[in-house]
Amino acid sequence: MIYLTFILIFLFVVLWVLAVMRRKPSARKNQSKEYIKGLEALLDNDRETAIAYFRKAFEKDQNNTAAYLRLGDLLREDGSPEKALRIHQNLMVKPALPSSEKKRVLKSLMADYKALEKYKEAAVYIQKLLRTGIQDISLHKDLLDFYENIGEWDKAKEEKKRTLTLEKKDAKKGMAEYCTYVAGKLVDTSIDKAKSFIKTAERYDRDYPFIHYVKGLIGYKDGDKSFALNEWKNFIQKVPKAAFLVGTKIEEILFETGKFSEAAKIYEGILEKSPLEPEIIMLYANILINQGNFKKAQDILEQIYEARPNNQILYLLFQVYEKTDKNKALEIAVKFQDNVIGNARYKCKECNYETEKFDWKCDYCGAHFSLFRVWD
Ligand SMILES: [Zn+2]
Repeated sequence: MIYLTFILIFLFVVLWVLAVMRRKPSARKNQSKEYIKGLEALLDNDRETAIAYFRKAFEKDQNNTAAYLRLGDLLREDGSPEKALRIHQNLMVKPALPSSEKKRVLKSLMADYKALEKYKEAAVYIQKLLRTGIQDISLHKDLLDFYENIGEWDKAKEEKKRTLTLEKKDAKKGMAEYCTYVAGKLVDTSIDKAKSFIKTAERYDRDYPFIHYVKGLIGYKDGDKSFALNEWKNFIQKVPKAAFLVGTKIEEILFETGKFSEAAKIYEGILEKSPLEPEIIMLYANILINQGNFKKAQDILEQIYEARPNNQILYLLFQVYEKTDKNKALEIAVKFQDNVIGNARYKCKECNYETEKFDWKCDYCGAHFSLFRVWD
């Protein structure tokens, strides 16, 4: 009995030693001196040395995929995505690549193609990654970005829906915004597709006001200016602070059809509800100045300047006083000496990001139709 126990213990020890010995080479491989030194160099931000060590580590042991993977990533980050791509492709064809490493290689390949601006290929690798069961919202956002870049708008739409659901955001609102945005982007290149997207936007939320803006763009492009005019009138009544997008277009259509005097009426109507909206006041004051109605222009400009002092309004006031009161004009001109009018700036209502470059999409947070002119 004792013998049997000894034999069993002996056998157990032998098996354990064998198991440890089998594990040892791979453990040693992952901790190769060169690899560790490479990681240390990375910590010191010495990328060149890190690259050299990772390369050595791989040359010494062709199975050191970790070193090779990092080497590729570093080369991409340092501006050689082609080299990175070749390295990661080599790793991909390696037989018996553990699944955790395979996912990392797929991620690196996706990043290489992204860096090379080959979005179609990058999208293929994201799909492969998603098929491995990874649920990562940033992957879906990247995929959305790639589809947008290659103009696959229907696929982009589906991906947008997925990200909104994953982020637990209001899909109805988000999709109405997104489809309106896409429709706007497609007006000049494929108007039928733009029309289909705007219909989808309406199905999500008929009351989303920017739908009127883009429907106006579509009508205008189609040559139906009276339709465009109606949509844009509707639009600035709903979103007066976005009047900078359509004000001059509305006036242009009215002028062409001999109904320019209607412009003043439209602005007056809006000012009854929003008396201190600078966007509308600017448009209205310009018309009054052109009509020679300086007294009225002066009144509304003084009123808005008191409530929201800013240089653009001050400049219009200067123009008015030049006609009516030279001394007052001089007074204003002095104020301008240290207050030069800069370029218009726009601020995102979602994230407060400020920019001089207007866009339908916020560069910072990705929100659509969220930029409005800053008045200060
Ligand atoms: Zn933003």
